[in-house]
Amino acid sequence: MTASLLTQGTFFFPGPTEVRTEVLAAMARPLIPHRGKAFEALYAGLQGPLQTIFFTKRPVYVSSSSATGLMEAGVRCAPEGRVLSIVNGAFSARFAAIAKACGRETDVLEVPYGEIATLDMVKDALAKQRYAAVTVAHSETSTGALHDVRGIAALAHDAGAVALVDSVTGIGGAELRFDEWELDYALTGSQKALALPPGLAFAAATPAFIDAAKSTARRGLYFDLVEFDAYGAKNQTPNTPAINLFYAAAEQLPAIVAEGMEARWARHRRMAELTYAWVDDLRAKHGDAFGVLARAGARTPTVTSITIPTTFTASTLVKGVAERGFTIGNGYGKNRETTFRIGHMGDHSPDRLVECLSVCSEVIRELAA
Ligand SMILES: *Cc1c(COP(=O)(O)O)cnc(C)c1O
Repeated sequence: MTASLLTQGTFFFPGPTEVRTEVLAAMARPLIPHRGKAFEALYAGLQGPLQTIFFTKRPVYVSSSSATGLMEAGVRCAPEGRVLSIVNGAFSARFAAIAKACGRETDVLEVPYGEIATLDMVKDALAKQRYAAVTVAHSETSTGALHDVRGIAALAHDAGAVALVDSVTGIGGAELRFDEWELDYALTGSQKALALPPGLAFAAATPAFIDAAKSTARRGLYFDLVEFDAYGAKNQTPNTPAINLFYAAAEQLPAIVAEGMEARWARHRRMAELTYAWVDDLRAKHGDAFGVLARAGARTPTVTSITIPTTFTASTLVKGVAERGFTIGNGYGKNRETTFRIGHMGDHSPDRLVECLSVCSEVIRELAA
């Protein structure tokens, strides 16, 4: 492993995540025109690393927006017709909300937060109705649950639908192979497992998806993937890109590739397992109210959502941990005060995570006393 890749940071927030100083410094380079050879070389230089990270031979589109923009792009450009949204947390609920806001008839397959939709559940839902697209969160950051998006995409195809995959806290931290898994559309954001500053989003789509999009009405303009595809072929973006963030990406994405994707996934799994063992220890010491929200076997390696007793709030814990120099996150959405989250993703080392967890233990010892 490249020692230089790992941060000594204290920012275990589940997004944005810790960004290395070298990556932040890269953003201070002077600007260049976005219609010119220098920018085209910068854009082209990101493609190889992004294709490695996405496990695809397809171009990877770079949007100067947060990840939600490319969620909306996926919905707008999906084949016309009804959408099935699998909802198991706040971000997958956002995908459903986007589909509705874009005027799609949308059905929600909802499972309790912390759970995932099993393949049987998805198959049953797809059998009830004809759908054009299925939306799913690979790694549901609000709960820490991980979906089998390969299996879900296969079922969607059997039913004549495409699969739109939000892998914002997946790609770069959890295994995802765009081509081999036959996903139709997958996206991520810069500020999660890729450990870049916020402001860029990345997505891949199959040629069939882009071709079909050409005959989809009301794709809008700013998030039209047909445009991203056409400009991408010239190593450009449809509009003025966040050039300084491209500099950061040019520093960080090759470093990710140098670590190796399998090695990176394994490091994230190690950090997740350290966290689960730590939660087991909390249970033993302080009672069964402490637990990992997501069910074993369906957990993302990038973020863990941990339940706490009703005797204190997540905000109190987060504040106490911050006073000792580490940043962790509240729960998200309806779990805001009843869970807290540790983002063990990006360039963090397991050793540093252990330090963060021991600081959390100190605060919990006081609060649970
Ligand atoms: C962070 C996140 C998003 C939203 O990303 P923005 O960059 O804030 O738009 C969507 N989905 C998941 C799973 C996320 O973790």
